[in-house]
Amino acid sequence: MRTEKLYIKGQWKDSAAGDYFDVLNPADGSLVGKMAAAGKEEVLEAIAAADQAFEEWSNLPAQVRSGYMKKWHELLQEKEEIIARTLTAEQGKPLEEALGEVRSGTSYVEWYAEEAKRVYGETIPASSSPKRIMVLRQPVGVTAAITPWNFPASMVARKISPAIAAGCPVILKPAEKTPFSAVEIIKLAHEAGIPKGVIALLAGSAELIGDTLLEDRRVRKITFTGSTDVGKALMKQSADTVKRVSLELGGHAPYIVFDDADLDKAAEELMGVKIKNCGQTCVSANRLYVQESVEKELVQKLSEAFSKIKIGNGFDKDTQMGPLIDGDAYRKVQEHVEDALSKGAKLVTGGEGFHKGDHDQAGYYYKPTILVDVTADMKIMKEETFGPVLPIQRFTTEEEAIQLANNSRYGLASYVFTESLNRGIRVSEKLEFGIVGLNDGSPGTAQAPFGGFKESGLEREGGHFGIESFLEVKYVSISMK
Ligand code: ADP
Repeated sequence: MRTEKLYIKGQWKDSAAGDYFDVLNPADGSLVGKMAAAGKEEVLEAIAAADQAFEEWSNLPAQVRSGYMKKWHELLQEKEEIIARTLTAEQGKPLEEALGEVRSGTSYVEWYAEEAKRVYGETIPASSSPKRIMVLRQPVGVTAAITPWNFPASMVARKISPAIAAGCPVILKPAEKTPFSAVEIIKLAHEAGIPKGVIALLAGSAELIGDTLLEDRRVRKITFTGSTDVGKALMKQSADTVKRVSLELGGHAPYIVFDDADLDKAAEELMGVKIKNCGQTCVSANRLYVQESVEKELVQKLSEAFSKIKIGNGFDKDTQMGPLIDGDAYRKVQEHVEDALSKGAKLVTGGEGFHKGDHDQAGYYYKPTILVDVTADMKIMKEETFGPVLPIQRFTTEEEAIQLANNSRYGLASYVFTESLNRGIRVSEKLEFGIVGLNDGSPGTAQAPFGGFKESGLEREGGHFGIESFLEVKYVSISMK
């Protein structure tokens, strides 16, 4: 059993008040370890250290910041197995998938180590000849980063790396269910020599840490991934000190399959985007719309594939899908399935789960499930299920598919399958989503601007777009003699 500490001002520290919380393995409820919980004093200490580190860190040549990040990247690559094992133990996903997540997170560190060197300014022609206008881009300042449990490694790397590349110190609060992946990643940032105060890790009460960070004027930016409700609350709290806000919130991704699609490909890509992480992903396919003439064939293919999925402990070699994160997640999945069935949906496969171990908060598994004859009034078609359930609704025309897909308060990811180039482009342009996977079930990558329309969020993560939300724009108007 492990016991991990907080990371403040370049040092690993026990909780001053002696508070620790349990981290459970969602596979069976066993205790993975204990994590130190920060009190208000420790949050304030981390803010003061970050504030102090800001000037020096942001004034370093970008090349030097980049050098630290490259070292960090190297260590992350070397230790990927250790991080992945930690991730599986506290989050439950299969080890191979955990390794994929660690590599994805690591790729952001590499990308932003490079991008640090490309924070370009501009000059603008002035309207009178003795003047010059010079535009600078400067780091926004101390940043609070709050991350979720579904991608406890990649979210940490994805948030910290653009911030520190831009010159902003970061105070990280990982999710209480999964703090150890963050601990492993930050141990390596320490080993890479990233100066004290540039990164802090605070675990513990979300409200206490969140409120203290958000009230403080020295914190100039918050970057958050998590539920839409918490994101909105943080945005409201940020208003008092007009903090810059980046939000990556919920999604309700439509997966549209036209009659001219490559159905084998559509089915195969769907397995990745639905079964991965047990469906607990903001870009997971939440609702499948299929053109009526190919419904039967597609459902047949998916049903065969779904019923073969091996469910179990993420450390078992043949496991393809792990547990849900906890009992609440399980009950939500159950509720969505029951609601759909009570309103006329039909079960094709799955529709039940099981419990392992004797802990009432962990050890919950749900079988990959397909529902057909689904209608728009069912909960599952409006709210994020965050589980391995695929509701399928048929459509007749292209216009109808677009309208059904766009009829959501969310706008993160969407997927379109068609072999027609014209249709693919036409539909992609009309979808009100930040991400469109056109015949592609895994569009996420470090160089692309990940983020959502509507209530799915603000700003983008990834690519050159991702660093911009950590930069202020300043112009200097110069009057010459
Ligand atoms: P999920 O439903 O995925 O658990 P949450 O939005 O509840 O999503 O959690 C995402 C992150 O936000 C976690 O790190 C959690 O601790 C944090 N969080 C939850 N509530 C608050 C809050 N009131 N203030 C700050 N952070 C919060």
